[in-house]
Amino acid sequence: MITTYHRPQTLDEALALLTQPETVPLGGGTLLSHPTADSVSVVDLQRLNLGSLRAVGNDLQIGATCALQALYESEHASAALKTTIKLEAPLNVRNAATVAGTLVASDGRSPFTTMLLALDSKIEYQPFNKDQPPVTVSLSEYLLVRPRGLITSIAVPRNAKSAFEYVSKTPADKPLVGAAVARWNSGRARFFLCGYGKTPLLALDGTEAHGIQEAARNAYHEAADEWASAEYRMDVAATLAKRALESLT
Ligand SMILES: Cc1cc2nc3c(=O)[nH]c(=O)nc-3n(C[C@H](O)[C@H](O)[C@H](O)COP(=O)(O)OP(=O)(O)OC[C@H]3O[C@@H](n4cnc5c(N)ncnc54)[C@H](O)[C@@H]3O)c2cc1C
Repeated sequence: MITTYHRPQTLDEALALLTQPETVPLGGGTLLSHPTADSVSVVDLQRLNLGSLRAVGNDLQIGATCALQALYESEHASAALKTTIKLEAPLNVRNAATVAGTLVASDGRSPFTTMLLALDSKIEYQPFNKDQPPVTVSLSEYLLVRPRGLITSIAVPRNAKSAFEYVSKTPADKPLVGAAVARWNSGRARFFLCGYGKTPLLALDGTEAHGIQEAARNAYHEAADEWASAEYRMDVAATLAKRALESLT
């Protein structure tokens, strides 16, 4: 339950508030506004001008509070990225939910996080102690450590081809298995799977995409839950990996 609400006007003010106990950043609030037993103070980020979206060199620079729907409507979003945004949440939620909030709240079923991982996106965050400089890490590393700090921006490479293929119970459901592939001109290929577990799974990061189907099978060999068996996921993941590789744009 949200017991205290702050709306700072500057980043410094926000960081000072976030050093206090039981105090967290509020993005779109689509998750934080759910009723819970715990009391929490929130620091609303909407006045901090962190919602920009622009192409800078080879990257798409996305401000932390950019709404999912604004990214979806951007001319800079690739077809694969748009597919994953649409699968992430329905329109009303996409209009409110922020890019940073979605990444922080994501689990292994998040198509959007999976696509950003395949593209080797980078996160910039400001540790809550404002005397420390901003830190830039890969999204993979961020999700592994989940450091305390305020995400200010996300950089998504634009110089890779990408594709996302999935299988779900209905076309609008989150995938039972989703395959995100990115490939650069150098031949480097990254391949992540979603549909299971606490975080999307890295299946392949190499100088070429050779062996991608075997990599898919290996990555999901224990991916059994109430939704699907591991055998099913392994077979589907291998097929989707091949399909994604063939449909890179
Ligand atoms: C009915 C409904 C049910 C949902 N149930 C779930 C669920 O059970 N589990 C789930 O994962 N998702 C759930 N979601 C999806 C959730 O809405 C999305 O994850 C959403 O995209 C979160 O984005 P937000 O901006 O609204 O985040 P918020 O709700 O504002 O915040 C989500 C988390 O991210 C942190 N955060 C936000 N911005 C920043 C930042 N800039 N830097 C650092 N941390 C930040 C917050 O402190 C909080 O921990 C649900 C959505 C709806 C509408």
